[in-house]
Amino acid sequence: MTDAVSRQLFERAQQVVPGGVNSPVRAFRAVGGTPRFIASAHGPYLVDADGNELVDLVCSWGPMILGHAHPEVIAAVRDAAGRGTSYGAPTQAEVELAEAIVERTPVEQVRLVNSGTEATMSVLRLARAATGRDLVVKFAGCYHGHVDALLASAGSGVATLSDAAALATPASPGVPAATTAQTLVLPYNDRAAVTAAFAEHGERIACLVTEAAPGNMGVIEPGVEDGEHFNAFLARTCREHGALFVSDEVMTGFRVSRQGQYGRDGVEPDLMTFGKVMGGGFPAAAFGGRAELMQLLSPVGSVYQAGTLSGNPVASAAGATTLRLLDDDVYTRLDRSADVLRSAVAEVFTEVGLPHVVQSAGSMFSVFFTPADVDRVPDYATAQRQDTAAHAAFFHAMLDAGVYLPPSAYEAWFLSTAHDDVALSRIVEALPAAARSAAAV
Ligand code: PMP
Repeated sequence: MTDAVSRQLFERAQQVVPGGVNSPVRAFRAVGGTPRFIASAHGPYLVDADGNELVDLVCSWGPMILGHAHPEVIAAVRDAAGRGTSYGAPTQAEVELAEAIVERTPVEQVRLVNSGTEATMSVLRLARAATGRDLVVKFAGCYHGHVDALLASAGSGVATLSDAAALATPASPGVPAATTAQTLVLPYNDRAAVTAAFAEHGERIACLVTEAAPGNMGVIEPGVEDGEHFNAFLARTCREHGALFVSDEVMTGFRVSRQGQYGRDGVEPDLMTFGKVMGGGFPAAAFGGRAELMQLLSPVGSVYQAGTLSGNPVASAAGATTLRLLDDDVYTRLDRSADVLRSAVAEVFTEVGLPHVVQSAGSMFSVFFTPADVDRVPDYATAQRQDTAAHAAFFHAMLDAGVYLPPSAYEAWFLSTAHDDVALSRIVEALPAAARSAAAV
């Protein structure tokens, strides 16, 4: 498989774009080699600039739940774009998208924005304004976008690209220590740490923000202790201290069930963030909550939040059409495909003697290249025990066989409804050789 054109494009890109990519997770820094430049995509396949067809397990990092270039989504986009691409005035399309989100989730009102980062950034401002408090609690390894206050021990690209020393708070140069000094970072699934943090700082905590089911340090399952789900414990602890519980469903929303992670654990957050799937592959995201909180936002209230392209008509059409097509049957099919892959990975890795842990939240799952003594990955510290060299070997062997995986050991694998038996068997057939390459490292 040649990648000559991708190499040429990467050379050009590096002249004009830092690292040749517009988001660090797209680089092949962690796995080595040249990122594939994509020319087109259809269904479960990407076609790169050299004409190679790759089964896509990244799905744009989550949004493409219906596969690429779904005919109904493209028709809605064409129709919307034909009527103009942005007006800077309200439209029916954004009302329909907001209604679709409110109908599926416990939020009463949403404000549409352009990225998950904007959604979490805005939600922090709202939570701080609503409580009159400054502190924010987050979990190590959870990623909520590149918001200054939340770039402390963050997952995703930060986990992939930072060396361990840089992971001390703040996680990136340029983030003022004064900003992350307002952020408490705790180990995920650690109830004692949460209880202790609230006992000490409870009266100063505006909100606790968590990924509804973390996917940015690999997929981590929220634990259940004495019948209580971790999210229920977090919501209860926040309530006891007058803090707001913020569930970040940017990744899980409308992906792990029609109602996102909320549909799986039933825990009602005070505020929520959404993105990815709800934009149908366009820049669209949202945050929402009870009307009484959302009414604090400008122009009703005094908490300022705005956006030139927010609720963009083309993005709203793509998002609303995507949500409309996501009936319960879709999730049954996604769960089935995820089962096929998970079992195939577990079987093949076990056969070649490659230690691993597979974890999931609904159809969202990831494979950890952890040592043999690890049988569960409950937090970031355990995720960091992965053999990233084995992962890199696996990644490249899969790519050579025509399967495009996330170029990082800290990311979820994403499936779409377009991953049919043909696409799934191409993945399954590639596994044994790739697992052997990883085991040989
Ligand atoms: N929150 C979560 C849980 C995410 O997974 C992401 C992106 N991976 C974000 C927020 C940030 O979203 P965006 O990249 O659209 O800014």
